[in-house]
Amino acid sequence: MCQMTMNNDIERVLYSVEDIKEAAHRVGTQLATDYADKTPIILSVLKGAILWTVDVMKEMDSYAEVEFIDVSSYHGGVASAGEIMLRTDLNTDVNGRDIIIMEDIVDTGRTLKFMIDLLMERGAKSVKVASLLDKKEGRVVEANVDYIGFDVPKAFVVGYGLDYKELYRNLPYVGVLKPEIYTSEDT
Ligand code: 5GP
Repeated sequence: MCQMTMNNDIERVLYSVEDIKEAAHRVGTQLATDYADKTPIILSVLKGAILWTVDVMKEMDSYAEVEFIDVSSYHGGVASAGEIMLRTDLNTDVNGRDIIIMEDIVDTGRTLKFMIDLLMERGAKSVKVASLLDKKEGRVVEANVDYIGFDVPKAFVVGYGLDYKELYRNLPYVGVLKPEIYTSEDT
């Protein structure tokens, strides 16, 4: 009997479980060194950055707090809506604090710019960005990623936190969806 699983929907794997483990180790140990004498707030961007946040913070043996923010620029398809929505704000005063934004992917840069502006307006002392994926070719606004897991080509990717219509977040790797999975209104 043929059983349909999420794996059947993936055209190719871009970053394997092992690749991601190595990237989380590299970024986490670098953050631990860079923030050794500080207590930063690790700000995880829901929902895409959840797995990346967990794996990177486990590699840090320096003091850190963890907070969540829910910001969205997508409406569940594959194209950015352009407009950023703050769905759930973080619960902590960031005034005078060092912030590390944990992102799943930076594409146009709009979401990141929105968050950096918000945090700086609220008096953050420093804001750095650690993103699993950096899709530099997609940039529309200036947005710098300080700690990069992987430079990703301009394709729509899913897995390891990243979704298509809320699915595939629980894949342990990052891959490209088969074109037949997209519906025509998404492209
Ligand atoms: P930006 O504002 O930089 O265009 O988009 C950032 C957000 O868009 C990411 O946090 C992510 O939720 C979504 N996004 C951008 N590119 C992709 C992609 O290739 N796959 C998925 N699943 N989401 C993406």
